[in-house]
This record gives sequence, C-alpha cells and structure tokens, in this order.
Amino acid sequence: MRSAELTLPGFIHDICSAVYPFGIGSPFFSLLPLFQHGLEWIHPDALLAHPFEDGRVSFLEQSIDATANTLGGDAFSYIKICKPLAANWKYIVEDILAPLHFPKYFWALLSFAVNAVRSSEGFVNKYFKHEIAKSFFSGIAAHSMLPLDASLTAAFALVLALSGHVFGWPIVKGGSQKFADALLSYYRALGGHIVLNTPIKTLDELPKSRAIFFDVSTKCLLDIVQDRFPDCYTRKLKKFRYGPGVFKIDWALSSPIPWKAKDVFRAATVHVGGMHDEITLSEKLVSNGKHPEKPFVLLVQPSLFDKTRAPAGKETAWAYCHVPNGSCLDMTESIERQVERFAPGFTDCILARSIKNAQDMERENPNYVGGDINGGASNLIQQFFRPVSCIKPYRTPLKNVYLCSASTPPGGGVHGMCGVNAAKLFLSSIIS
Ligand SMILES: Cc1cc2nc3c(=O)[nH]c(=O)nc-3n(C[C@H](O)[C@H](O)[C@H](O)COP(=O)(O)OP(=O)(O)OC[C@H]3O[C@@H](n4cnc5c(N)ncnc54)[C@H](O)[C@@H]3O)c2cc1C
Repeated sequence: MRSAELTLPGFIHDICSAVYPFGIGSPFFSLLPLFQHGLEWIHPDALLAHPFEDGRVSFLEQSIDATANTLGGDAFSYIKICKPLAANWKYIVEDILAPLHFPKYFWALLSFAVNAVRSSEGFVNKYFKHEIAKSFFSGIAAHSMLPLDASLTAAFALVLALSGHVFGWPIVKGGSQKFADALLSYYRALGGHIVLNTPIKTLDELPKSRAIFFDVSTKCLLDIVQDRFPDCYTRKLKKFRYGPGVFKIDWALSSPIPWKAKDVFRAATVHVGGMHDEITLSEKLVSNGKHPEKPFVLLVQPSLFDKTRAPAGKETAWAYCHVPNGSCLDMTESIERQVERFAPGFTDCILARSIKNAQDMERENPNYVGGDINGGASNLIQQFFRPVSCIKPYRTPLKNVYLCSASTPPGGGVHGMCGVNAAKLFLSSIIS
C-alpha cells in the first residue's frame, strides 16, 4: 500500500494495490479505528465496468439486481446464485478468511463451496447462456492468476463479486499510501515502534523478542533462517510454487480515457479483455509460460473519483496484466493496444508512463517472487495448504517464529488476515 509521483509532479500513483474489497470487508480491519487515523474510503458509482468492443458494457454494481440488469439474458441466473450467498456473506467470509478449520457456519459455507470448487469455465457453462455474462464472470475469475479451467477459479469470482455486493470495491482518498499511514498511526498510538528501510538478511539481525512474525516470501524466509530449519521443512518450503507475475503500467493522462462506452466513467475498476474466449486464452497462455498478444488487462482510473490524485483537468490510470513468472518482456505496447480497442484515442492522452516488468516487481519487493503478487500460486492444494501441508501453516519448526505473509492462508490481497491468524496462534500458545 504505497503511492508516489511515479510519472510527473502532481500525479499520485498506487505502486501496488489500488482497490480494496478485502480491506473494507476484513473482519480485522473493521475492528480498528482507522477513520480516526486518516483512512477515507471512496466508493465509485459502479464497482467494476467490463466494456465490449461494440460499445456495450456490463457492470458490477453494489446492487445484485442492478448488476444482473447489465447481464442480458443471464440476469435471472446471476440473481439466483448471488442473492442467497449475499444474505449469509458476512458469515461465509469469516470462515473463508480463517485458517483451515471446521467451519463455524457450516451450512452457509457449504452453499458457497458447492460452486466455489468449480473452475470458472465449468461455472459459466453451467449457469450462463450468453457471452456477456460469461465474459463478465471470467474477467473477475482471472484475478486468480490461474488458467480458467482450473478448479477453484469460480471461487475467486464469487468471493470478489459477493464482497462487492456486500462491502463495495473502494479506493482510498489520497492513494493507497493513506491506508498504510492510518495503520501505522494507529499502531504508534498503541505504543508500537516501527523501524523502516531495514532489509533483514539473517535471524541474528533481529533483537531478542518473545515471538517473530515474518511477513516475507518462503524464498526470503529460507535465506534469513539459513540452515536452522530441519531438512524436511526446508524441502517442503522449496517445493512451494509461485504463480505468474505481473507487468504494471502507470499513466499520467491529459484527459479521462475516451471509452467507447461512455458509462465506463462510472467505475474505478475496468476489466479490459473483451470476450470470454479471449480472456480464457490470455490466462491459458500465461499459465503455459507464454506472453499473450491480447492480454487481459486490469485497469483502475482513480482520479475520476479522487481529485487529489492529479493536477486539475488531468487524470491518472493504473493497469497490469499477467505474464509468466520471472518475465522481463515489455508488455507496454500490448497493454496499450488492448485499451485502445475499447477506448480509441487513448494513446493520444498519454503524457507520461512508468512501467515495471515482473523482475522489477520482485526487485522492488522481494515478496513478489518472479512478479507473483499473491505470495504463491493459488491452486486447489496451495490455496488451503500454504506454504506447507499442515493445519497450522503459520508455525515454523523454530520456537515462536511464525510466517504471516500471503504465502499463508488465506493468501494474496490486502485483508490483514494472514497476520491475524498467525498472531492468534501465538496468543493461544502462551495462554494454554
Ligand atoms: C501491482 C499490484 C496490484 C495489486 N492490486 C491489489 C488490489 O487492488 N487489491 C488487493 O487487495 N491486493 C492487491 N495486490 C496484492 C496485494 O498487494 C498483496 O497480495 C499483499 O500486499 C501481500 O501481502 P504480504 O503481507 O504478503 O506482503 P507485502 O504487502 O508485500 O508486505 C511485505 C513487506 O515486507 C517487506 N519485506 C520483504 N522482505 C523483507 C526483508 N527481508 N526485510 C525487511 N522487509 C522485508 C516488503 O518490502 C513489504 O514491504 C496487488 C499487488 C500488486 C503488486
């Protein structure tokens, strides 16, 4: 959660995360008085726009009915799936974000799980008849960074869509840095002390403490701990798999993006990928180690809703696409060509751009191994058992040394729950 003038003076860009369905829906963050410490959510009019080349557009709206109205002939199916889940979503989300356990709200979770385990492909073919709804759902499922015929990819779409219907997909006023600042300010108010800009290379660099929580990748953890883990645990960590990387662009723009479908201005988040088959192909190629010619692009246009992000009359935009892990290919042209398809004249609006390939992402933050922003592939096994197969994956073999990054359940995204789950485990060990 960082923001900076990556392109030109006065243009504030979110360096990594930008939109916070899990931030606002996090059972933990919602307990903290972050508003008193400067956090201000901005809820765009629509949560997500999915434009098509012919000028049509479907929207994820806070209202399920309003969303369904943009899904043509599949409106009724969408309502039938989402309404019962939305009614129990606050309970379901508690179970989803916890480590592997017997569910607290068993029946509610079961109603979600029967569809969630499906692949996105399986899901859209079962429930939707038309391309519009199939494309809309596939775009959300593509956040999984998995091929869309993989089990559990439907879960990503359902979790993101339902979180939107219940909590929203807000951005942060002033940039995502303000979210981090609010957390730091609250922590300091509690007496917490933070040392910044100090990369830790070995365990010996750390002061004596009752417990150590590592918010790092498995690769970093192995480097830091060196040979102090038992061989079998080291072997297991080395087997942990990272997923595709991302190629990211930030633009300073002279005007709003000239979308063919004007209503796209209603949403901060835009899925630029067109039809279901194209999105599926793009994600398939990436999972096979190839770079798509027409990548599925996740784009955010925050300055339309937050005037603090750009000088008067100017705009910013943020986008990334998935690429093979460790890629150093420049995807600028492919991404801009994709946006141009849905917004002719887009490239004429570009004043400046900042780009980062997957290797740059890792150089900037070693947690993004090979550019993977989710802390490891979220396939069926690794989503539940990360980074190793055990019920309490936060605990390492070293006494009171915990792992609490996105390489532990529930995985990537800004929700704080990996840390909460690890902290609860430590607290339960000192109480018992
Ligand atoms: C381009 C991009 C877009 C994204 N968009 C979204 C989004 O819109 N919404 C969303 O919810 N999520 C988004 N994410 C994903 C989300 O940011 C990550 O999944 C999440 O931040 C991972 O949390 P973490 O605690 O594992 O690691 P991080 O948030 O990366 O925190 C780990 C911190 O530890 C530091 N660190 C690592 N190693 C060491 C070391 N050895 N010594 C000292 N410090 C160290 C890192 O520099 C970093 O500051 C995005 C990520 C990226 C990169």
